[in-house]
Amino acid sequence: MDAMADPLVACDGNERVLYLNPAAERLLGWKLMELAGQPFELLVPQRLHAFDGQSFLRYLLRRRRALSGRPVRASLLCRGGPELELEVTVGAAESEGGERITVVLRRTPEFPDYTDEPLERLSSAVRTRALHPASTGERVYQLVFENAPMGLFHFDTTPTLLACNDYFVRLLGSSKRALIGLNLFSLQNESIMTCVREVLEGRHASYEGDYRSITAGKVTPVRVHFAPCLNECGEVEGGVGIVEDVTEQRTAEAERSRLFREAQEAIRVRDDFLTIASHELKTPLTPLSLRLASLERRLERHEPVDPTLLRHARQHLVRLAALINDLLDASRIEAGRLALHFEPTRLDSIVERALTVMDAERGQHRIDYSHPEEPVRIRGDPYRLEQVIANLLENALKYSPGDSTVRVTLDVRGDFALLSVADEGIGIPHDQQEQLFERYFRARNVSVTSYGGLGLGLYISRDIVERHGGRIWVESEVGRGSTFYVALPLLSAASPTPPEPRPPTGSSQQVH
Ligand code: ADP
Repeated sequence: MDAMADPLVACDGNERVLYLNPAAERLLGWKLMELAGQPFELLVPQRLHAFDGQSFLRYLLRRRRALSGRPVRASLLCRGGPELELEVTVGAAESEGGERITVVLRRTPEFPDYTDEPLERLSSAVRTRALHPASTGERVYQLVFENAPMGLFHFDTTPTLLACNDYFVRLLGSSKRALIGLNLFSLQNESIMTCVREVLEGRHASYEGDYRSITAGKVTPVRVHFAPCLNECGEVEGGVGIVEDVTEQRTAEAERSRLFREAQEAIRVRDDFLTIASHELKTPLTPLSLRLASLERRLERHEPVDPTLLRHARQHLVRLAALINDLLDASRIEAGRLALHFEPTRLDSIVERALTVMDAERGQHRIDYSHPEEPVRIRGDPYRLEQVIANLLENALKYSPGDSTVRVTLDVRGDFALLSVADEGIGIPHDQQEQLFERYFRARNVSVTSYGGLGLGLYISRDIVERHGGRIWVESEVGRGSTFYVALPLLSAASPTPPEPRPPTGSSQQVH
């Protein structure tokens, strides 16, 4: 009987407790030493003491035949007063010492099986209890305990869990059957055990962290407040705990710190950008003012003016204006206010205009241009598309050696015009190719030169191209060069789908 998993109480014919096995000790919180010789009625709530003038045990024994071995559902008292709903099976036998009554107890399953014969008397007793003024307080306690919107549990000094509510059970993903009777010192959580010890010494305690349910194997982030249960004499009779599920708070905190990190990163990027932008904007100013000063001197002295001086001054002004325009365009894109004016137009003419404008910047570079014989008609904003092409050309010149060739190719592919600008320059590392089109992005391969940029050109270009129903992407190899592609729908094409960038071949890679 000691080894039995089911709790068992044995009584003599006078219903005095002779024995209770360790499982019953755990369940009821009583020790054999305390109960031995005591009437079984100590375990029976007052309202169940008498049926038809018979004790609870005698009544069940009389009904034994009708029950034919099935348990009845009844509440029994644990040490300290809390009630436990249990399945009770009673048997009796004659032995040398006289009559022996055995009471086998089982915790009721989570979902009661109503095929059990209901114990009519008990249900009527429950009814009376609801009406009986003396038990109103107890009932209210029960209702509050069960319906509280937080996990509640109660343990005795052993410390065995004597009661817990449904919320607690749901929270920990376990079952009352598994939890009630559990010794809290058997929990594998040293911090919770420390709290329980504190409580049994009469102090409050709290725990915040993960709770790993041994029975359900579920981990729940919880906050638990423990308090001692003191009796009228101020002695600790056990403890009570309130458990909150802090999963949502944790998620909210994690989300808040993620947003905070993102905001900090955005501020850092913007700060870096402001430093770079101020630098870039200042760069043309010194040579510009030097040239203007030199012009001024010459004019004062009535000396002849060197036209290259003027041309250089103008180039620096143009550079300054381009930087300012990029800044304005980027902020217009941010605000969704970059206006495009669509009209039927010829892409080949736009490319030629961009090439003419960029010719002044070409230096020692060779620029090869090939295009179809036929005009390439599209619907678009000629000014903005020229800006895109000029930006690609400018980058190709900027990021490739002075004596290399830049190849510009215009072609027609199905419903699309395909423009490519290929250089033999420094190339772009694969891991950075996707980011090129992001705002403020400057590839790490570019050592800061006097001719740097703001990292806005490709960001603006992508917005313009995509608003034309097109795509822009890059294939590049460090040390070998880069090719930027722009695909735009032809005028004849009715809302076509832009071609997918070709799959990576060898070590080259495309974006967008
Ligand atoms: P930027 O004004 O800085 O050139 P872009 O948006 O036009 O801004 O380009 C973003 C970054 O992409 C550049 O800083 C550069 O690192 C890289 N990049 C663009 N075009 C090329 C190219 N043809 N070759 C190598 N790197 C390039």
